[in-house]
Amino acid sequence: HIPLFLLVFLLAFGIVYLASANRLNLAYHISSAIQQKRFLLYCQPIIDTHSGDCTGVEILLRWHDERQGWISPDVFIPLAEQHGLIQSLTRYLLIQLVQRLYLFPRTCDFTISINIAAEHFTQGQILDDLQTHWFHHLPAPTLVLELTERTALERIDNQLLTRLHQLGARLAIDDFGTGHSSLSYLQQLQPDVLKIDRSFCATIGTDAINARVLDSMISLGKDLGLKLVAEGVETQEQVDYLKQRNVECIQGYFFSMPMPLEDFPQWLSNYRR
Ligand code: C2E
Ligand code: CA
Ligand code: CA
Ligand code: CA
Repeated sequence: HIPLFLLVFLLAFGIVYLASANRLNLAYHISSAIQQKRFLLYCQPIIDTHSGDCTGVEILLRWHDERQGWISPDVFIPLAEQHGLIQSLTRYLLIQLVQRLYLFPRTCDFTISINIAAEHFTQGQILDDLQTHWFHHLPAPTLVLELTERTALERIDNQLLTRLHQLGARLAIDDFGTGHSSLSYLQQLQPDVLKIDRSFCATIGTDAINARVLDSMISLGKDLGLKLVAEGVETQEQVDYLKQRNVECIQGYFFSMPMPLEDFPQWLSNYRR
């Protein structure tokens, strides 16, 4: 005969224990997947609206797990962030990427964008990692660091920003208009590029409030002299609209889904404006 409070206590303890075991298990799963090179690098073309040329790519990770199949980055990136594994994952990406630079035009006119978690950035580790894994691979395309807003940036080191610029890297604010305090980022980070989140592009041709917000974001970007990249462009109507408003670059399924890096040269040679 067990007292009720003890039963409740044991039950709660059991649940917490199982939940944390599961989290640890997932974290373990991610780190062993890094070791086994189960994360694959994909890329999505970025198109210059004016010339119609492909002037860059964004690198996106994919995870194929033997048992669970494809796991979305929307699942494993937040997990990697929570478990302190995002920096190793990004280092892994850099190492894989430099081994495949031959797949891309090796001029500074061409940009390669990678996603960087705020944590990697604020802790200053990013500079060491880029110096070890990227900057000595010359000639290389121009590197763009896309800063995601999943977690807020706490402290930004101005010296780090200056140093990254001197080394030739560019800074982009990803998913602009969503997440944490986009507007205060403009002041703190002094980015080169704004990536307009796809939720705004999806409203083109509708009378949703966000369609107005999109127009305001475009003029804000223009006022600040930033390069604008619109994401998630799926239709000709969206292309025309963005082109009319001089949004410099567009990216989306309209041009291509993300593809394995190895497929890029073939895609590029077939690509017609
Ligand atoms: P993101 O950086 O905003 O990347 C763009 C996402 O939009 C990609 O999703 C891409 O496949 C998707 N997309 C592109 N064009 C279209 C379109 O026309 N329509 C629609 N509906 N979607 C489109 P994906 O690859 O699933 O990545 C999701 C997010 O995961 C990324 O969002 C990024 O925040 C994160 N992520 C992916 N790879 C990395 C990475 O290496 N490091 C970090 N820190 N985050 C990553
Ligand atoms: Ca991005
Ligand atoms: Ca984005
Ligand atoms: Ca996103």
